[in-house]
Amino acid sequence: MSEILLVGVVGAGTMGNGIAHVFAQRGYEVRICEVEQRFLQRGLETVKRNMEREAAKGKVTEEEVIAALKRIEGTLDRRTLAECDFVIEAATERFELKAEIFRQLDDLLPEKVILASNTSSISITRLAAQTKRPGQVVGMHFFNPVPIMKLVEVIRGLATSPATFEVVKNLATRLGKTPIEVKDAPGFVSNRVLMPLLNEAMFAVMEGVATPEAIDEVFKLGMAHPMGPLTLADFIGLDVCLDIMRVLQGGFGDPKYRPCPLLVRMVDAGWLGRKSGRGFFLY
Ligand code: NAD
Repeated sequence: MSEILLVGVVGAGTMGNGIAHVFAQRGYEVRICEVEQRFLQRGLETVKRNMEREAAKGKVTEEEVIAALKRIEGTLDRRTLAECDFVIEAATERFELKAEIFRQLDDLLPEKVILASNTSSISITRLAAQTKRPGQVVGMHFFNPVPIMKLVEVIRGLATSPATFEVVKNLATRLGKTPIEVKDAPGFVSNRVLMPLLNEAMFAVMEGVATPEAIDEVFKLGMAHPMGPLTLADFIGLDVCLDIMRVLQGGFGDPKYRPCPLLVRMVDAGWLGRKSGRGFFLY
């Protein structure tokens, strides 16, 4: 495996710009690819703003910020990722969209190059099967906000080779993160365990067991969670929570993953949490 110097990132949204941020900060050259100039621009501006905030807090120096920003190059032409030594995809969570990206990257890049996905819920095994290099396809699941959260779930698809897994595990460590090994299964570990907790909190609201404020206090004071489950659901986005519950329900076929009817109704109403101004709480 040749050394990784140039990293390709597909998607400059919430996760893609955070991923570009941490790679650039740790000395990697980054090429970040978007579909439209305005999304690319927004992603690059977010990286700059977040890095400057870190400098203001004294976590990095101004010189380090300038050097890191210089290492990030934006592109709208996916073919320019052909020179990358590693590519991570962080595009919108839709299988067909990601499948097309993986097929094209597979055609573009040398066979040995690893293709990773930051997907929260799509099967790595299924994405790998879109390519002729399933051994070099892996999940690298960062958490939001990427520059702050320490965890990276490294997901082994059925065909992921041990060498690929090792490279990505070491890469996560070099980014200052803690890699945790997880096999490919619906929701991996993080969402499989977290989402049913949030969903159950919603059932408690629906059944009038307690108010959203009270439920959140139980978790903050009794379990030392930094934020209660309903505040967290609002932060993640109720539409995203519903999508993930449906992935769990479909993937396992187990009724215990039934999405809370109140969640379904709130998403129908457009109450998506923080991003829409209303969820379990008002913003
Ligand atoms: P987002 O909507 O903020 O960003 C997605 C970006 O992908 C958009 O800017 C969009 O323009 C771009 N995009 C779409 N199609 C593209 C293409 N063909 N080529 C290049 N760019 C393309 O979404 P996000 O929250 O950053 O999520 C991205 C991925 O990360 C998803 O797979 C999601 O499941 C996963 N994820 C999200 C979180 C989170 O908390 N937001 C956490 C972990 C993982």
